[in-house]
Amino acid sequence: MRDDVMQLDPPQLLGLHCATCGAVTFPKREFCAACGAREGLSTRGLSSSGTLHCFTVVRQAPPGRAVPYVLAYVDLPRDQVRVMAQLDTAPEGVRIGLPVKTEFRTVRMDDGQPVVGYVFVPEEEGSL
Ligand SMILES: [Zn+2]
Repeated sequence: MRDDVMQLDPPQLLGLHCATCGAVTFPKREFCAACGAREGLSTRGLSSSGTLHCFTVVRQAPPGRAVPYVLAYVDLPRDQVRVMAQLDTAPEGVRIGLPVKTEFRTVRMDDGQPVVGYVFVPEEEGSL
């Protein structure tokens, strides 16, 4: 296992907290995306609850990828972070401000090992 990989239960997205400016950013980088600091950085588990900031419906994709699907920017208010990811729900009824949550799942197999990715799903399934 890589030494920069953390195992969290339940799983969480990992952001970067900067002690210099106080920003939390995602994805984790070698420097603060807000102020450029390279020291005083620590990994922080992000909230799993967010709201839909904006979205688009993707209707054309490479072969093997089912369409349509929703690609979204989600705000995680507790951490003041905006994350881009697929919103795994039917496009009909998706609206800005929709409460969503992070969900982790196997997205493909790589040499027999599951590769886990993340999506957002509506906070209350069936609410659309
Ligand atoms: Zn910073």
